[in-house]
Amino acid sequence: MSAGEIARDVRAGVRSARDVVEEHLAAIAGREDELHAFNLVLVDEARATADEVDRRVAAGEDPGPLAGVPVALKDNLCTRGVPTTCSSRMLEGWRPPYDATVVTRLSRAGAVIVGKTNMDEFAMGSSTENSAFGPTRNPHDPSRVPGGSSGGSAAAVAAGFAALALGSDTGGSIRQPAALCGVVGVKPTYGLVSRYGVVAFASSLDQIGPLAANVADAALALEVIAGHDRADSTSIPRPAPALSDVLLDGVDGLRVGVVRELVDAVDPDVGRRLAEAAGALEAAGAKVDEVHLATASLGLSAYYLLATAEASSNLARYDGVRYGLRVDGDDITAMYGATRAAGFGAEVKRRIMLGTYALSAGYYDAYYGQAQRVRTLLIRDMEAAYASYDLLLAPTTPTTAFELGAKTADPLTMYLSDVCTIPSNLAGHPAMSVPYGVGDDGLPIGVQLLAPALGEATMFRAAAALEASLA
Ligand code: GLN
Repeated sequence: MSAGEIARDVRAGVRSARDVVEEHLAAIAGREDELHAFNLVLVDEARATADEVDRRVAAGEDPGPLAGVPVALKDNLCTRGVPTTCSSRMLEGWRPPYDATVVTRLSRAGAVIVGKTNMDEFAMGSSTENSAFGPTRNPHDPSRVPGGSSGGSAAAVAAGFAALALGSDTGGSIRQPAALCGVVGVKPTYGLVSRYGVVAFASSLDQIGPLAANVADAALALEVIAGHDRADSTSIPRPAPALSDVLLDGVDGLRVGVVRELVDAVDPDVGRRLAEAAGALEAAGAKVDEVHLATASLGLSAYYLLATAEASSNLARYDGVRYGLRVDGDDITAMYGATRAAGFGAEVKRRIMLGTYALSAGYYDAYYGQAQRVRTLLIRDMEAAYASYDLLLAPTTPTTAFELGAKTADPLTMYLSDVCTIPSNLAGHPAMSVPYGVGDDGLPIGVQLLAPALGEATMFRAAAALEASLA
C-alpha cells in the first residue's frame, strides 16, 4: 500500500493507523535480522503515535496529509530524547534535546515514526558498510550492498518496513541507494528543506529529502517537509512547492538533455535503461537531445576536496566534552586524542585528515581554492545547459548493487560510485532517481532527472511520466 493510499484511508476512517503500523512492524520482525536497515526500531512509540492518530480521526479531526503513514528516519536526524548516532561510536549514548524541523513537520502531518535507519558513519560512504554497527543488506539480494550513505532508509522502503523514509544527500546519498534498492529518491534544491537538527557533514552540500516506493509518495513527503524555516539560515524564504497537483501534467514540449559525459561513465546495461527512459520521454512528447557537460566528471575530484574540508571543520565539535563518547586521558589534549581515536571509524578519520590537509597553510589555494574554482566552472556549465533544456537526464549510478566487500579495500573505487550524482550537489540543484528496470543481473537500475534550482515541479512531472511509461 502506498503512503498516499494509507493516508487517504486513515483520514477517511476506513483503516486504522494501528493496523497499518502493525503490518509494518510485522514486516520488520520478519526480515530485519537479515537486512539490518535500522539502528533502532521504535515499536512502542510507533504504536502510541498510531493510536493517537486513530483517536483524532474518531474525534472528527484531520491528523494531516501523512495520517498513519509509517516513516523511517536516517539516524543523522535529531529526534528528541531518542538516540541519534550517525552510526558512529562517537555519538553513542547521546540523546538530542530537540527534534529536527523535518521530524516536527512529519509528526504534525500525522506520520508515524517507526525507527532510525542505519547509514555510513556520519554519512560518509556509498554502501552503508562504514556503519560502526555493521552493514545493511539489499532487500533484492542480501549478498549486495543497498548503496549509501542512506542505505538503511532505502532498504527500509524497499523491504516494506516503512512507506516513506528520509535521507540526507551530500554527494548522492539519497539517490544512489534509491537506485540500488529500486525506489524513488529526491535531493531537493539546496535550501528548500530545513536542515535544523540534521547532523552536519558538508554544510555547503547537505540536503534532506524523501525516499519512497513511487513518485506520488515522494511528492507528498517533500510537500510536507519543504518550505521556509527561520531556524535554518540557509532556508529559502518561500513556501513548499505544489508537486502532487502537477504529476499528471505530462512532458509535452519539455526539452530534455541527456548528459553524454555521464552516460559514458556507466556500465552498458545501465546505459541501455537510460536510453529507454529517454525514448519514453520522447514518446510522451518531450524533445530529447544529447547535451555535453564538459566539467561533469571533474565534479568528483572537486567534491572529495570540498566535502572533506567541510567535514574536517564540522566534525571538530566531537571533542569528548559536548557529545556522546569520552575517553579519559592524562590531560585535555590526551582526552581529545583518545576520544577521537576511539570514536571515529577509518573512513571518517581518512576524510578528516584529507580535509585538514586541503585546508592547511601552503596547500589551501592549490587544493581547496582550486576545487572551489572547478565548482564554479561546473555550475556555469550546468547553467548554460539549462538555457537550452528544461531538464537533464543521466544515469544515477555506474552499476547495479555490488557485493558486500567488493569496494571496501580501495576507497577510490568506492568514491567513483558518486560520479553521476555529485554535479547537482555542487550546483545546489534538485535531482531525483526513478527506478527504471533492471540490469543484466536482475537488480534495480535508476535513472536520474536533474533540474535547475527550484525546478522541482518540472522534475516531478517528468518523473511521473517515466514511472507511467513502465506501467
Ligand atoms: N558517497 C558520498 C560520500 O561518501 C556521498 C555521501 C553523502 O551524500 N552523504 O561522500
